[in-house]
Amino acid sequence: MRTIGMLGGMSWESTAEYYRLANTLVRERLGGVHSARVVLDSLDFADVELLQSEGRWDDAGRLLAERARAVVAAGAELVVLCTNTMHLVIDRVEQAVDVPVLHIADATAARVRAAGLDHVGLLGTAFTMEQDFYRGRMAGHGLDVLVPDTDDRALVHRVIYEELVRGVVSESSRAEYRAVIERLVERGAQGVVLGCTEVELLVSESDSPVPVFPTTRIHVEAAVDRALAAG
Ligand code: GLU
Repeated sequence: MRTIGMLGGMSWESTAEYYRLANTLVRERLGGVHSARVVLDSLDFADVELLQSEGRWDDAGRLLAERARAVVAAGAELVVLCTNTMHLVIDRVEQAVDVPVLHIADATAARVRAAGLDHVGLLGTAFTMEQDFYRGRMAGHGLDVLVPDTDDRALVHRVIYEELVRGVVSESSRAEYRAVIERLVERGAQGVVLGCTEVELLVSESDSPVPVFPTTRIHVEAAVDRALAAG
């Protein structure tokens, strides 16, 4: 079994899920008391959030590249960034290490295609919904990506930063997300990508009339597949 390197803490609310799911999947697949081999580097999200809000992506890239080198030095044989947003700087991370860095949008797009869909809605931070690094990556897999309108994007973003990364999961925000999903479906979304690693803490399949694609779970499954692959 290969050792998975996790760059987490963005936020730790979802990193805890990465760790729990990786261990659960390895136990399911190998049986007995098997568990995942993981090197986790958990950042202080306050540092990362400051760089994001000030648009200091070069500094953010430098920081994640340095932490990726650290997990590889500690034994990681593949790396995952436990956040969708910070894939904005994945190039810097890939350049810093000589092990695979598994892109969360690639794993998710493959799952959407396998479900036979090609029009999906996307919920995530404003960075993820509005910049090309994520939508463009999905478009490269042949997907048409719909994002919520301006007001709905602001709502989705606010709930992530003011609630979910702080461990607040509220019924009222769940109802608001359901309404945003409904509007995406009315505009033609055949499925909805939960493109922020905390969003699946708030909504699930039962909150949507169409299939949802929870990126944390999908990313972990891809990492465990790779960790357990032969050769
Ligand atoms: N975890 C979130 C994501 O998947 C948002 C927090 C962050 O900006 O890193 O995008």
